[in-house]
Amino acid sequence: MTASEAAAPRDEPARPQSDDANNTGDNGTSRSDRADRVQLADKSLPLFVLREHATNYAALFARARAEVGHGQCLCQTPALRLVIRCSRAGRYHLAGWPGEGELHDPSCSFHKLASEMTGRDAYSAEAIREDDEGVTIRFSAALARKLSDPEPAKASTEPREGRARRTVGLLGLLHWLWESAQLTAWHPRWHRRSWWICHARLSEHIAGCSINHEDLADALYVVPPFRKEYARRNTAAFETFLITRLKQRAGTQRRGLILGEIRDISPTRYGVRYTLAHHRGALFATTALDERLRRSYRPAFSNAAAEHGARRIGLFLVELSPKDNVKVVDMAAMLVSGLYIPADSSHEVVMANALTEGGRAYVKPVRYDGSNLVFPDFVLTDTQPHSYVEVYGIHGRESYDQRKRVKQAYYQSQDAGLIEWNVAESIPDVRPP
Ligand SMILES: [Zn+2]
Repeated sequence: MTASEAAAPRDEPARPQSDDANNTGDNGTSRSDRADRVQLADKSLPLFVLREHATNYAALFARARAEVGHGQCLCQTPALRLVIRCSRAGRYHLAGWPGEGELHDPSCSFHKLASEMTGRDAYSAEAIREDDEGVTIRFSAALARKLSDPEPAKASTEPREGRARRTVGLLGLLHWLWESAQLTAWHPRWHRRSWWICHARLSEHIAGCSINHEDLADALYVVPPFRKEYARRNTAAFETFLITRLKQRAGTQRRGLILGEIRDISPTRYGVRYTLAHHRGALFATTALDERLRRSYRPAFSNAAAEHGARRIGLFLVELSPKDNVKVVDMAAMLVSGLYIPADSSHEVVMANALTEGGRAYVKPVRYDGSNLVFPDFVLTDTQPHSYVEVYGIHGRESYDQRKRVKQAYYQSQDAGLIEWNVAESIPDVRPP
């Protein structure tokens, strides 16, 4: 089964690619009409049609690639170039032109922040490689190990700061998934975002990608949204993942990745049990691992955020235990708002909610594995130049204050607008000027 089949049942009412299932298109402007339309050779089509039915349009993709050499995004005039990719399996898809992400309209699927606003820039070309076939990721942890070899003490390697990272760790992979599926962004033109939309977008971006020389779609199980009518199919898909992916064979312990929303973490006799939203089975971790994860991903484990509609996303590296339980080897966790926008603290969840309610278009820059990188807490993409949002929640920590000064100097040098919120005070007005 291809990822697109898993992601996009045809009778689903929503159009996941644009988040705008309820968009009435009532403003009738050319901007709205042209949003998410692309041109392939002499044909102009909505992007979601090409994504959902890529195989039906294979001949058109091939012709555009041969005759023009690229596709075109119609969100701007003149149109912007798009890369036409074809995976080894023969599935076509479109990607933004390198270095031109910022030029797209903030509501366009190909819009990206400048490279200095993402942790992705800290990797070497071999860690995340993009070419005409798709994206190739070199993951820091092995996806299989010989049972005769001793178990490594820690699954993820922590590359050194100060030079390009040559592998992507679990948190880096989670942030890459989120950012490339544009789940770090929000635009008022999008009316809602559910797990159904997240799953569809993630599945689209995973198709054609590889990780440590394996298809990412095989190595990674993105928990599908629960729908009663698809429950049996989803259970079967997970069984297939367990058996074809995780079952030991020929003296090799195989590993896989599971991505989903963490619903609950409860103690067991030997450690903890994670339950995921939309998913029936549980995942098990040792107490020692659970303690390390709580230290590493403090905001995701704090109780404060739940009051503001926040959720927790987990990317789990898993094995199958001898008793066929799903055993967590490592995990990266991420706090997100109710609309699945990443946040570094519960205060940032409050700010993300305020920005959405204030009708703002914004992006949350993500650090990937670079814990020392400094970015604005949010970037407002509805002003030109972009403006920034800073949430000041911690006091009296020298390293933090130092970073704050560096950030402020940067904004001043950019002549950019800045919304600041010291969380000891009430939240400022964030509506557009
Ligand atoms: Zn565009």
